[in-house]
Amino acid sequence: MVEIQTLADTSVFGQIAEHQHEQVVFCHDHETGLRAIIGIHNTVLGPALGGTRMWHYASDMEALNDVLRLSRGMTYKAAISGLNLGGGKAVIIGDAKTQKNEALLRKFGRFVKNLNGKYITAEDVNMTTKDMEYIRMETKHVAGLPESMGGSGDPSPVTAYGTYMGMKAAAKKAFGSESLTGKRVAVQGVGHVGTYLMEYLQKEDAKIILTDYYEDRALEAAARFGAVAVGLDEIYDQDVDIYSPCALGATINDDTIGRLKCRVIAGCANNQLQSEDIHGPELVERGIVYAPDFLINAGGLINVYSEVVGSSRQAALTQTEKIFDFTTQVLNKAEQEGSHPQKAAIRQAEERIASLGKVKSTY
Ligand code: NAD
Repeated sequence: MVEIQTLADTSVFGQIAEHQHEQVVFCHDHETGLRAIIGIHNTVLGPALGGTRMWHYASDMEALNDVLRLSRGMTYKAAISGLNLGGGKAVIIGDAKTQKNEALLRKFGRFVKNLNGKYITAEDVNMTTKDMEYIRMETKHVAGLPESMGGSGDPSPVTAYGTYMGMKAAAKKAFGSESLTGKRVAVQGVGHVGTYLMEYLQKEDAKIILTDYYEDRALEAAARFGAVAVGLDEIYDQDVDIYSPCALGATINDDTIGRLKCRVIAGCANNQLQSEDIHGPELVERGIVYAPDFLINAGGLINVYSEVVGSSRQAALTQTEKIFDFTTQVLNKAEQEGSHPQKAAIRQAEERIASLGKVKSTY
């Protein structure tokens, strides 16, 4: 689940400075064994919101690298989606199966509380809504609570809807029509989001080819959606129109890029390009339309934001639908600028931050 990109400067402050993070908090507690890092990338637009991930990192630097990379992505995701949120993320170092417990989570909640709302946490990998309930016992700065507690519930259906919107916009760019009827789509990872996405694909009569780390999950999904299940590595060689990464990051890399036969890439996974500077332009050269990951998977964040500002899921879905137009704009902008979509999307996000930074400075 962890995809590390080596940064030029490997010192702690070198890494923090690389993408200009505002604040990084190292949390340690002897009694509970808590070791966590909270990364706050940018709070110009609002409090830094982003989930907490629990993972058995091989080293502290790997954990730091992950939290820095993920929190930066959250800044761009919020900015490009028009939300009044900054970018943050947290990682708890440890094995979620054996080391996660109420005391550890509540201690972590206390560290979040100490930030006085500058960072708002939510669910990420290996965290559940139940875990959020424990964190909520210590701090109100937590989102993604169950609907029964007044929260916004599972964000996956909204993420899937946005991914679907982004996929349709990219299809329109590549094929001249947003219709996915008859299109062959390779879905990599049929977990929460992947499954909801396939419901939309099925409604449009797309032909689904899928894979999953868990073979039984893949076979079950294949039976349900009338799809073909293939092996984990075979997914890259499929003769498809669209490749949809819905599992891990960094799947578009030196080893896989030459094997892709698709004309469109649109999926929900974070950080799909192993190197934005290398693989972003290479996709353009290969004639593949890439729908920027942080733009089209923003539905989940939009849903969580509805909890923060007290609006409905319907409002979140309406806003998520705009991902179609945003994706179209970014793809056109990239083309006009002779750039690549990921770069154009980052620039658009940075422009909003810079322009609203001026508003704040005059307040
Ligand atoms: P999930 O854990 O429910 O599903 C991921 C699926 O991928 C699992 O079924 C897993 O077995 C499978 N998988 C793992 N490694 C794989 C591999 N090498 N090849 C194929 N399949 C593999 O997660 P999810 O909530 O569906 O999220 C999927 C991706 O989307 C993640 O990268 C997540 O960070 C990102 N994302 C999710 C949301 C959300 O709302 N859930 C929002 C934004 C981004």
